Amino acid sequence: MTSNVGQSYPYTSETEIDRAAAIARVVAAHEGLADTIRSESTPLDENDRWWVWKCPTKGCNGLLHAAGYAREKHAVYVVCDGTCGKTFLR
Ligand SMILES: [Zn+2]
Repeated sequence: MTSNVGQSYPYTSETEIDRAAAIARVVAAHEGLADTIRSESTPLDENDRWWVWKCPTKGCNGLLHAAGYAREKHAVYVVCDGTCGKTFLR
């Protein structure tokens, strides 16, 4: 399940190309994650740049990349590219 909606400020931003590459990497590294993203979010719209956040998981130095929009909340659905591989709302 997706956890809390964070209020933290973005850490940096990335191009659509970098975002897509990061998501592809994370999905490849975590089995079943692609299905989770598909079932919990709707596809992103077109954007040249996307925000990136730091992962809030303790001990994880990953970054959170936009993977979609949350189905029920007005939030961006993000995925950590670090060791935890968790999803969050931003
Ligand atoms: Zn993480």
